[in-house]
Amino acid sequence: MTDTTKKNWSKRTRAVHAGSRRSQYGELSEAMFLTQGFVYDTAEDAEARFIKSGDDEYIYGRYGNPTVAMFEDRIAALEGAEAGFATASGMAAVSGALTSMLRAGDHVVSSRALFGSCHYILDEILTRFGVEVTFVDGVDLDQWRDAVRADTKAVFFESVSNPTLEVIDIAAVVEIAKKVGATVICDNVFATPVFSDAFAQGVDVVVYSATKHIDGQGRCLGGVILGSEEFIRKTVEPYLKHTGGAMSPFNAWVMLKGLETLDLRVRAQAASAQAIAEALDGAPGVARVLYPGLAGHPQHALCMKQMGAGGTVVAVEAEGGQAGAFRALNGMDIFTISNNLGDAKSIATHPATTTHQRLTDEQRAEIGVTSGLLRLSIGLEDTDDLIADLLHALAPA
Ligand SMILES: *Cc1c(COP(=O)(O)O)cnc(C)c1O
Repeated sequence: MTDTTKKNWSKRTRAVHAGSRRSQYGELSEAMFLTQGFVYDTAEDAEARFIKSGDDEYIYGRYGNPTVAMFEDRIAALEGAEAGFATASGMAAVSGALTSMLRAGDHVVSSRALFGSCHYILDEILTRFGVEVTFVDGVDLDQWRDAVRADTKAVFFESVSNPTLEVIDIAAVVEIAKKVGATVICDNVFATPVFSDAFAQGVDVVVYSATKHIDGQGRCLGGVILGSEEFIRKTVEPYLKHTGGAMSPFNAWVMLKGLETLDLRVRAQAASAQAIAEALDGAPGVARVLYPGLAGHPQHALCMKQMGAGGTVVAVEAEGGQAGAFRALNGMDIFTISNNLGDAKSIATHPATTTHQRLTDEQRAEIGVTSGLLRLSIGLEDTDDLIADLLHALAPA
């Protein structure tokens, strides 16, 4: 394999070429190696490979696969990571990154505004195994400073929170975490690899749900953990190899091809999201718009510095609480009611009754998931059509 990561290519070029491996047939498009196993010429070869596999030598699908390796190398190159391990879903990546490095007695600090399943891993699962977790308001740096301790092993946050779109000051949290030697793990789904520069900002580990923008067309589940060669090979890989969270080669192939168009799609979606947020701001039936690309957003300046764009998701608070939000959802023509995001199709979600249903009323209030809040994932349809659909659905009867 040519080491495309070392070439001086821009992100867009890496997204198309990095990680490619060609078989003896010289195929143009990446091959899908739909096989769970691999064969050896001799018994001695099998023995040798189990002792130590070389580059592009495989043993078993749960351990690795050439199509999966192409995806891992391509996204690692895109994000500027030394290595990556692909997982069956975004949650396998989040839980794998955390559980592979933590043990009973360790302490973790996490931002509170999280995707429901991320919150479950930290609040329910890690604590069950004797890991202590302190939740903080992620945009309040003093809370991070107060929470980290000498025994803090990891710091976790969503760089842009789901669904309230709070932007974490990555460099500032990294500085606080580094003082106690904690590993910084960043769930970067909302930033996307297109707008992310998380490794340059000092993060140790980036996790993605590839299900979202990387697939981008709502077909497959997937995830990836990115980090140093040492962290991926010594900590993540043994854990995931043996616990069984590997990505399927079919899904890896879909994600690999998704990376080729990621930049075009995400930039178009983010430009549309910006126009939609501006159009909804102050529109009839809209109590408030949460979008970091709007000048009035509390972390607007930080977001522009950190990402250069507001991203592809807009949150709006419909007037009239849950009834108002439901009326708006049921009145939308183009937006579909679903819970994926980053898709080519625009999607509207009511987090309080779906993705964040498991939380108590109090927990929802703490992270700003109000009864009128709608999460809008902006797709690839015509921007003016989307604006008209939303203005019509949100306008009071
Ligand atoms: C969707 C999502 C996940 C989980 O990803 P899956 O692929 O659904 O398992 C994790 N974190 C964030 C921020 C997400 O939006």
